[in-house]
Amino acid sequence: MSQQNIPYKIYLSENEIPTKWYNLRADMKNKPAPLLNPGTGQPLTAEEMSGIFCEELVKQELDNDTAFFDIPQEIVDFYKMYRPSPLVRAYCLEEKLGTPAKIYYKFEGNNTSGSHKLNSAIAQAYYAKKQGLKGVTTETGAGQWGTALSMACAYLGLDCKVYMVKVSYEQKPFRREVMRTYGASVVPSPSMETEVGRKILAAHPGTTGSLGCAISEAVEVAVTHPGYRYVLGSVLNQVLLHQSIIGLEAKAALDKIGVKPDMIIGCAGGGSNLGGLIAPFMGEKMRGEQDYRIIAVEPASCPSFTRGKFAYDFCDTGMICPLAKMYTLGSGFIPSPNHAGGLRFHGMSTILSQLYHDGLMEARAVEQTAVFEAAELFARCEGILPAPESSHAIKAAIDEAMLCKETGEEKTILFGLTGTGYFDLVAYQKFNDGEMSDYIPTDEDLAAGFAALPKVPGQD
Ligand SMILES: *Cc1c(COP(=O)(O)O)cnc(C)c1O
Repeated sequence: MSQQNIPYKIYLSENEIPTKWYNLRADMKNKPAPLLNPGTGQPLTAEEMSGIFCEELVKQELDNDTAFFDIPQEIVDFYKMYRPSPLVRAYCLEEKLGTPAKIYYKFEGNNTSGSHKLNSAIAQAYYAKKQGLKGVTTETGAGQWGTALSMACAYLGLDCKVYMVKVSYEQKPFRREVMRTYGASVVPSPSMETEVGRKILAAHPGTTGSLGCAISEAVEVAVTHPGYRYVLGSVLNQVLLHQSIIGLEAKAALDKIGVKPDMIIGCAGGGSNLGGLIAPFMGEKMRGEQDYRIIAVEPASCPSFTRGKFAYDFCDTGMICPLAKMYTLGSGFIPSPNHAGGLRFHGMSTILSQLYHDGLMEARAVEQTAVFEAAELFARCEGILPAPESSHAIKAAIDEAMLCKETGEEKTILFGLTGTGYFDLVAYQKFNDGEMSDYIPTDEDLAAGFAALPKVPGQD
């Protein structure tokens, strides 16, 4: 098919929304390491997990073998309200860059929560409802996940309690109000409402909070209140499973126009959008059917893949959550306060960590002023104001497209545009006022986090 015949937007019809999620663990030779009980150092059993997570989600979390999971009809129906999401050919950006590269992006910001997180929020809320639970608790950092979960809970009539990292609670009042409009209760974290919150506040008065700390609070409330479970918007295997809808749709749309990407690029916080976007492509790669370059992009101020250690670590600051084997900066790591661009989790999905460890994907870290420059360029040609997180992927896609310009190669690039930046205007304001800076942690900064990694028998 000639280039002129490829439209700006490659849509699937509603009836082409995938009806199964793809579990890329099924095709992994080296499976991701199991979560461990921090008390015993033994793999977490389904029974232990069921106190924290819904039963159906525990099954998904532990299943390394089933390749496809049926998406319940109720979830497919919900997806139809905002999916399929568009796959866009970035003609304008290509022209601006003067690159022979062909750039496509999959845009997940077309819903009120403004990001891909709704894809998993509706699934997790659905299984909670089906189990007859009263409600769910969670943490939110920048606020996208909390917003997505509030929307899903409002739709299904579930109670929703969100612990929001204090700095975001203060800097993003509008996000908070969207969540409250959808009926969620939003508490700045650390709070005095939980044992772990009181402990953290006593040790670090004046702390502006962290995701790891908000997770500890949300988990504590879930396990101490009957009828409540905890839900998490990233990192977990089940979340990557739900997010596979992104990659499955992208692949179906590209297949329609007969295009195979040479490289697939996504930003990486906890790894859910990237894991979802690459899922079907990585499946082909692992089965030896097709080769793709896969690139994770993370902030230089929170460089889990590129400078972290592949080790068992806590997922939370309070050290009450299970241990996950992942690329981590240590559960006590908190990015510098001048880091405005999201993606601030200290660890990474165990699935992506294993794939990276096995050389199946690459990772790179980018500095935030360069990320916002890429965001500005993208906004001015493609029209969409991108989320700072998504702009990490834009930055890498632009860099790759510029390399093609040097070499004259007509590579096809697919990247994930995970969301919109409407609620990130404090960060954009800093950038526009020339007040944005880059803070790259020193080796000494990181050493403190590594020193606090838990000792797990049989691991080094
Ligand atoms: C949460 C979020 C991310 C990062 O989370 P992952 O789990 O790594 O995908 C990226 N972009 C947006 C817009 C987000 O809301």
